[in-house]
Amino acid sequence: MQRGWSVVQYLDFKRERDESTTSWVRADPVAALVERIAPTTYLVTLPGGSAHVVEYGKERGARVGGCDGKGFEFRDKEDSPCAHLCVLRKAEWSYNQFGDDAGYDVNGEPIVAHDTAEYVAPDATSTTPRRSGRSVRRALRTRRD
Ligand SMILES: [Zn+2]
Repeated sequence: MQRGWSVVQYLDFKRERDESTTSWVRADPVAALVERIAPTTYLVTLPGGSAHVVEYGKERGARVGGCDGKGFEFRDKEDSPCAHLCVLRKAEWSYNQFGDDAGYDVNGEPIVAHDTAEYVAPDATSTTPRRSGRSVRRALRTRRD
């Protein structure tokens, strides 16, 4: 089975919180450095750690994500988020509850789970070059001239 950051997983943050897992406790959105680099992609650095590329978004109302770090690769369960994902979840909660600094990334952008469906490319058929009437019209004009 393919594991790692290329897999975007449904995540159970509630269980992390209820069980006060290491990932959950380690995740401090105030101490962490967060930068949103794409609609659903963040760069997350925990104190003393290296920067990780983290996918975080929403799919049909449920939170999904993945991380390129070892913590996610070797997670306990398929739907266990790593500390970097927990940082984003806590930051989003902070933003919604208090709107304080913990809820924003380094560029002052709110940290929220964006719906991944919003960023799916439009149907490929719509990009087919349309044989519009323009060339026909131009041809007619040319003939009239
Ligand atoms: Zn991670």
